[in-house]
Amino acid sequence: MDFKRLYDKALRLIPLNAEEGIALYTKAPVEELMYVANSLRQHHNPGNNAGWMIDRNVNLTNICFSHCTFCNFCRKKGAADSYVTSIHEYKTKIDELFSLGGDQLLLQGGMNPDLGIGFYTDLFSNLKKLYPSIKLHALGPPEIVYLAKKEKLSYFEVLSLLTKVGLDSLPGAGAEILSDRVRKIVSPAKATSEEWLDVMREAHKINLPTSATMMYGHIETIEERIEHLIKLRDLQDKKPENHYGFITFIPWPFQDEGTVLLQKHGIKSSYTGPDYIRMISISRIILNNIRNIQASILTVGKEIGMLSLHAGANDLGSIMIEENVVSAAGANNRFNADEMQSIIKEAGFIPVRRNQKYEAFYHPTDSYRDPLKGG
Ligand code: SF4
Repeated sequence: MDFKRLYDKALRLIPLNAEEGIALYTKAPVEELMYVANSLRQHHNPGNNAGWMIDRNVNLTNICFSHCTFCNFCRKKGAADSYVTSIHEYKTKIDELFSLGGDQLLLQGGMNPDLGIGFYTDLFSNLKKLYPSIKLHALGPPEIVYLAKKEKLSYFEVLSLLTKVGLDSLPGAGAEILSDRVRKIVSPAKATSEEWLDVMREAHKINLPTSATMMYGHIETIEERIEHLIKLRDLQDKKPENHYGFITFIPWPFQDEGTVLLQKHGIKSSYTGPDYIRMISISRIILNNIRNIQASILTVGKEIGMLSLHAGANDLGSIMIEENVVSAAGANNRFNADEMQSIIKEAGFIPVRRNQKYEAFYHPTDSYRDPLKGG
């Protein structure tokens, strides 16, 4: 295949098809991919800033009926170490979050069969009453599908009820790989790929900010990775004009430690640093309509995170206070706010704190002078 023609097409923001994406991802020289992806990053986000944020992951509950084969976090109902987080625990965690300069909770957890829509609407409205400035980046398409089925509501109705009481944005959780062949093996009880996309379509219609993700490096093929990206791009194309749609895309590799996929099926993570760089680059190249590409520094670590910023990514994500899900499967990279900013600086960029909508702001606790004022 003529790579130069494909680079030219990508740089003119003309969508690449699956065959072209696969050819670039598997065969193009990595330095060329990085160069093209970096040029596109400059197109979407000109300048030398790289984003980061502080939020706190709080798991609503670890009781889940889904038992995805890559998940070490979920527990059966009645298990000795199962829990539903209490309002008292939220208060302690939110107070600590505010003291560290963050203002957002990432609320995720299991699909607990005992918890219906009333549980979530009560919880969100109580949190907003107690902390009016707190931002709730919560749940994900699988939970919305689950709640819609449980309560016999449409996705639109579930999302509307939740946004009315304080849901600020919807994470792209549970996407894994948007292929039902893969999902039947890794997450058979979860939303299908079509259901995942349908929820996001509804979220885009009501202008709820969303993100998109991919968890790769297990049983999927290269073709399925590229199809995943194209499905996201196609949906983003259909979002109403001036609506947020997918604000960012975050790929992260499967963490295999102690998972059923590894222990019962011998599936190891195929992650390598060089392949992550190719993944970041091809994501930037294929997703010509998603402005932000975030490298998952918590799963790939400092060095690959830094390199990602030269390969099309413009953000390293959150320092994520109290992350329990990927860390339960072996992702042990941890950074505080100062370290995150130093990493970005060391990579040659200006660290800019941002919120979930990727709006930059400066906080007095940030280690660098206000980059928005050119400091
Ligand atoms: S990944 Fe999420 S949905 Fe799947 S078993 Fe774990 S908690 Fe449940």
